[in-house]
Order: sequence, then C-alpha cells, then structure tokens
Amino acid sequence: MADGTRTYKIIRSKNRKKTMTLQITSEGNIVIRTPLRTPDSEIEHFFQSRKIWIAKKIKAREVDREIQDSPRNFTEGEKFYYLGDSYPLEITEPKGVRPPLILTHGKFLLTREKAPHAKELFVKWYRNRAREIIGDRVRFWSTRFDLVPTGITITSAWQRYGSCSAQNSLSFSWRLIMAPYEVIDYIIIHELAHIKEKNHTEQFWRHLESFMPEYKKQRHWLRENSHMFRL
Ligand SMILES: [Zn+2]
Repeated sequence: MADGTRTYKIIRSKNRKKTMTLQITSEGNIVIRTPLRTPDSEIEHFFQSRKIWIAKKIKAREVDREIQDSPRNFTEGEKFYYLGDSYPLEITEPKGVRPPLILTHGKFLLTREKAPHAKELFVKWYRNRAREIIGDRVRFWSTRFDLVPTGITITSAWQRYGSCSAQNSLSFSWRLIMAPYEVIDYIIIHELAHIKEKNHTEQFWRHLESFMPEYKKQRHWLRENSHMFRL
C-alpha cells in the first residue's frame, strides 16, 4: 500500500457506515478511516483518487512551515500584513519629526536610525491599531447582539486569537489585526457568543451561526493562513 514514497494507515471501524475519510496528520502521515468490511482494493482506489489532493496539501504545509520558520529580518521590501493586505517596508531618512514607524501610501516607513528596534516598533504599532480597531468592533457587535463583556485586553498570543474569561472579560491577540476585517469580526463574535455559552457545545455553534451565518469560511481562512501572524 505505497505510492512509491508514501504509505497510509487504515483504521476500520464498525461504527462507520458508508463513507471513507482521508486525513493527513500533523506529522504528514496519511490515515484512511473506513467501514469495517471495505475491501482493500476499494481503499487503494480511494487513495489513488486523492493523490493529487494529498500532494497539494503536503506541499502547501511545507510552504507554510518554511514561511513560519523563516525569521523576520525587517529589511527593505519585506512585506508586513495589516487588515488582510500586505505592505512593503521602506527604510527612510525622514526630514523633520515623524513617528519612527508609519503606514502611508501603501508602505511601512521605518526611520533608519530606529531600524535596530524594528520588531518592537512593529509590535507597538500593531498593538495600538489592535486596541483601536478591536475595541470599536467589540462595541459595535456587542450593541448589535446585546452581549456585553466586562473588559477587553490585548495580548500577544500566537495561536489563541481570542478568549473569554469566566467573568466575561474578552482577550484578543494584536496579531489578529493582520487579518481581514471579516476574520477579526469572526473572532470577536465568537468570543461574544461565549458570554452566552462558555463551551463549544452544539448550542454554542448554533448561536454563532445565527450571529454570523458564514462563520465557517472565516474559521477556515484562519486555519489556512496562520503563518501570516508571525512577526
Ligand atoms: Zn471558543
């Protein structure tokens, strides 16, 4: 059961009625789940029919990983994200007084003498934007759905874009501000929905869907694009 380079593992289950599913684990292994009595030939056929898809997925993951692992250098031309778009960095020698890092005319301008502190300056810039934009959006959606948080905190979390405490205080990562507005709104509405229901129960997802019918699209976007959030 190999395609020359890849093999797969079969998990047969009597609880599974009809469909086969194929999963690529985070280690890059392939697992096919099938009903108990599916013949090997049928499983092999299923695997073959998914080979192009598998190759694409694995390639995409490698690219993601490379992007994630490559450190930021904060050099001229490097791109930085803001609200779903990317803008190149330009190192400048400004005349007169100006903040050391600004976004203007489609570019991030960084003062040359402050370049050694580029990372801190970016974090500060993102944090400030996050505080403004996320604060505004939370107020907007909170009024709309009549779900009122007790506070808003901005964090640096990498994978946890938002959270809701037992006391209904919401936290959001400043990294979220790199994502498009719809994605930011999804995380905000998700956390607001936790004011009603703390756990990810079926009821929780139903509430969320009534607030934001297309939420799955945004959730999917987050899964596929998390590499954007590194700094
Ligand atoms: Zn949640």
